[in-house]
Amino acid sequence: MAEKIVSGDEVVVVSGKNKGQRGRVRTNMPKLDRIVIEGVNIVRRHLKQGRARQAGIVEMEAPMHVSNVLLFCASCSSPTRVGFREGGDGKSERYCKKCDASIPSQRHPRNERERDS
Ligand SMILES: [Zn+2]
Repeated sequence: MAEKIVSGDEVVVVSGKNKGQRGRVRTNMPKLDRIVIEGVNIVRRHLKQGRARQAGIVEMEAPMHVSNVLLFCASCSSPTRVGFREGGDGKSERYCKKCDASIPSQRHPRNERERDS
């Protein structure tokens, strides 16, 4: 099934305590509807001494729910909702509901799309 947000996307947080922050999606967890965004939603974990690890405080990015973010559209420079439509090659593609630009996934960089003949 097509996902609205995939890893590599630039997203903007629109609700919660990290509202307004922007970053790139590092990890996508479609089954949980959660994503990890680079540099956003940093939490501190106080770790106890373990067998192979020292005790201490570690900062890490915590996953957040995808409903808290919007995809950032490079074409119109704003957070936007994503739609799906059939692209020129018959596959479904994502597009910006504001400016109608298609939004390719960064995860599978494609060669220049040939809008052919
Ligand atoms: Zn747009």
